[in-house]
Amino acid sequence: MDREDIVIIGGGLCGLATALALHRKGIKSVVLEKSDKLREGGIALSIVTNGWRALDQLGVASKLRTVSFPVLGFHDIVLDNGTEWRTSASNEEIRTFRRMHLIEALANELPEGTIRFGYQISAITLDPDASYPTIHLHDGTTINAKVVIGCDGAYSRVAECVGLRPIKHYKMSVIRGLTNYPNGHGITEKGLLRIRKGNVIIGRIPMGDNLVYWFLSMKSPSHGSNELKDSNIIKELGVQAVHDFPSETLNMVKQSDINTLHFYNLHYRPPWNLFLENFSKGNVIVAGDSMHLMAPALGQGGSAALEDSIVLARCMANNMLVHGSQNMDWGNATLAFTQFVKERRLRLWWLSLNTHLILCLGEYSSSKVMCLFCIFLITLLFRKPLWDAQYDCGVL
Ligand SMILES: Cc1cc2nc3c(=O)[nH]c(=O)nc-3n(C[C@H](O)[C@H](O)[C@H](O)COP(=O)(O)OP(=O)(O)OC[C@H]3O[C@@H](n4cnc5c(N)ncnc54)[C@H](O)[C@@H]3O)c2cc1C
Repeated sequence: MDREDIVIIGGGLCGLATALALHRKGIKSVVLEKSDKLREGGIALSIVTNGWRALDQLGVASKLRTVSFPVLGFHDIVLDNGTEWRTSASNEEIRTFRRMHLIEALANELPEGTIRFGYQISAITLDPDASYPTIHLHDGTTINAKVVIGCDGAYSRVAECVGLRPIKHYKMSVIRGLTNYPNGHGITEKGLLRIRKGNVIIGRIPMGDNLVYWFLSMKSPSHGSNELKDSNIIKELGVQAVHDFPSETLNMVKQSDINTLHFYNLHYRPPWNLFLENFSKGNVIVAGDSMHLMAPALGQGGSAALEDSIVLARCMANNMLVHGSQNMDWGNATLAFTQFVKERRLRLWWLSLNTHLILCLGEYSSSKVMCLFCIFLITLLFRKPLWDAQYDCGVL
């Protein structure tokens, strides 16, 4: 059996950010990733002010700013009743960029050998007689770790070990893609345009003069299987969903680059579970989507995962680093995790509640009473635009 000190499961955004945050504090870890190379996990991403604060702490923000595109505001149009409104975001830092830029920026700062590819975890066990968790790999081998941090996303094995309830699914799906306009897209607004008709919402953000990132949310065509893989079917679904939208929007979907299309059924960890559940067990903890999976309605899942990385590394360093040395007091891991959860719970609950209420508007669109109730709660609790961006996770 192999032995390691700190093992992070999952080399996505949260796993890499957590490894880097620990590295910045002088704490060594290894990241086990099931893919055989860095995984993009989607095509583009918007990071909001609170996420940029975390990226600043990680020391990768300035590099990313050079390859990102600012979102200066939101323009919303409802085709059903002809209303439209604009919200300025010029006081916030919202930027969109290719996901791979972020993944690579984090990975490139890690010491060589930190990320191990092709390690698929099948389970984590906590034997009451053994002092540390055991990681079981798909190939039958095991690793004994002193601390396990689960950043393995939506279908987290670590969340199972910790005892979290299964995630739930919405009856909504999202398609994302990029459209390239060789002669320029001609869009002058540097921001997010969202057009809604019935249950369908399409958003687009220009990335430079030729490229447009778009996402399309709609009622799920089917339930059960999470991801549809055939790009031609995905495009067809997208084209059908916006067939009666303005021709410019329809053409954007029709002309999208087939290789950039991704389809997701939307899943979530209910806000009330976030309030009640334990996110750690012994020396095992979850972070990122494994802890607080939410739909992309606020575009905060990634930024919240970056916040997790800063807070977790800070709590571990404060409680586990033996004063004046780089040695760790492994017995204090539970104390560090308790502090981390205490600091994160309320923040994540609010993000998740706001997201859930927005999604419920789509889910219950046929019930006027439910829609009015959701709108009432959103207006009451989340009146301030971009309230979620104000959060500061503090210094590493
Ligand atoms: C359509 C859509 C649009 C979004 N847009 C935005 C946005 O604009 N801004 C934003 O901030 N957020 C956005 N999000 C949310 C954001 O993508 C996630 O919150 C973020 O990727 C979470 O990072 P993570 O590292 O926790 O999980 P993931 O990115 O899912 O990474 C998990 C990693 O773990 C690995 N893994 C999984 N299981 C195992 C295993 N058993 N063994 C080993 N490795 C394993 C996976 O291969 C993967 O690399 C969006 C999400 C969706 C679905």
